Amino acid sequence: MTETIATSMPGPEDEVVRLCQELIRIDSTNDGTNSGPVEEKAAAWVVERLREVGLDPQTYERVPGRPSVVLRLEGEDRTRPGLCLHGHLDVVPANAADWQVDPFSGELRDGCIWGRGAVDMKDMDAMILAIVRHLARTGTKPPRDLVIAFFADEEAAGTYGAQWLVQAHPELFDGVTEAISEVGGYSVTLPTPSGTPKRAYLLQTAEKGLMWVTLRATGRAGHASVPSADNAITHLAQAVARIAAHPWPGEYIEPVSRLLADLGRITGLDPDTDLDTILGHLGGAGGFVRATLADTAVPTVLSGGYKHNVIPQEATAKLDGRFLPGHEEEFLTTLRQLAGEHVEVIIETQAPAVSAPATGSLIDAMAAAVHAEDPDAEILQYCLSAGTDNKSLSVLGIAGYGFVPLRLPEDLDFGGMFHGIDERVPVDALLFGTRVLARLIATC
Ligand SMILES: [Zn+2]
Repeated sequence: MTETIATSMPGPEDEVVRLCQELIRIDSTNDGTNSGPVEEKAAAWVVERLREVGLDPQTYERVPGRPSVVLRLEGEDRTRPGLCLHGHLDVVPANAADWQVDPFSGELRDGCIWGRGAVDMKDMDAMILAIVRHLARTGTKPPRDLVIAFFADEEAAGTYGAQWLVQAHPELFDGVTEAISEVGGYSVTLPTPSGTPKRAYLLQTAEKGLMWVTLRATGRAGHASVPSADNAITHLAQAVARIAAHPWPGEYIEPVSRLLADLGRITGLDPDTDLDTILGHLGGAGGFVRATLADTAVPTVLSGGYKHNVIPQEATAKLDGRFLPGHEEEFLTTLRQLAGEHVEVIIETQAPAVSAPATGSLIDAMAAAVHAEDPDAEILQYCLSAGTDNKSLSVLGIAGYGFVPLRLPEDLDFGGMFHGIDERVPVDALLFGTRVLARLIATC
């Protein structure tokens, strides 16, 4: 990428704030029911922003009202594997009464842009847009092919977005080997033995897998005045209790053990220090990490029975299961054993764990791009307890990373803002991220 650019041209930093505000103002709430348009207006707005700089994005929708936007930018060296840069256009619902501002205002207040999606993830959408628009305006080719994607439906497992798109249109990702999106790249501030705090950026290199199951218990129906040992409600309750009480074996997978070692090194804490103290230094991100120490299976919905004096034939429960990379089979086997003979385990939704290489030129380029702006910072790799669209791309063999670079103030509870109230992103962090990402794209 050349640096001989006419200086009168607006740069990505000149418009990223406005783009982020405008996108937040377009309500793209995804309540998971697919009962109407969600991303339609946001996608149309993105298409318009790309067309006005001469680009030709395409939209793809599994059902009307749920478009994803995809664009390929040809690189200087087309023999190199491509990189996918992606964000999602939908947001989770916001209950306006709980917020200090209108969640769809995109208001600037106290140095932050406020609104649903400010961190998840219209901030990144705006950064990507601003950078791509700048490349187009200046006629700059990235070093290698870039596939830019703004997906629908990430907040409901990508059924109408990435998950569908990789099956219906895998050709869009031809030659792509790596991807960058949420949830990582943000900074935490750690105490050190010298007393000078150290900033560290959490780069996400792995994700737990997801298995949402229904437990279906069956028994003999009958009059409730005549007890029976074969009672669906009892079978179900016992299965749920067994699963909830099960001590899922802990395993520190590679990125987790490395992170804990890194945290010990930086903070100077004794290796015997309890985990809560160590993870406490990560603020809200500590929760993400704590949930990556073992597989988990959390009961979320119970239903069964229809009358006080009738023993029903069937009862069901829903479980949200999350497994570490490599644990998928063992996790399901254990669930079936715990469920017992009267309870069937039905898989409703399944998505793979992600485990991307911890070293390589892209990792080096991400670190270098951060260090150009924040020379003394540490880059720490971690595993996310939740999932992103990188799961869908992993089906195509694409290694996905979470890298939305944001230099955050020490006291901001960033982890707590994902799907939380008063979601906001500092303007300075957004400008920082735009510089880092632009540098990364120019050098990777
Ligand atoms: Zn997200």
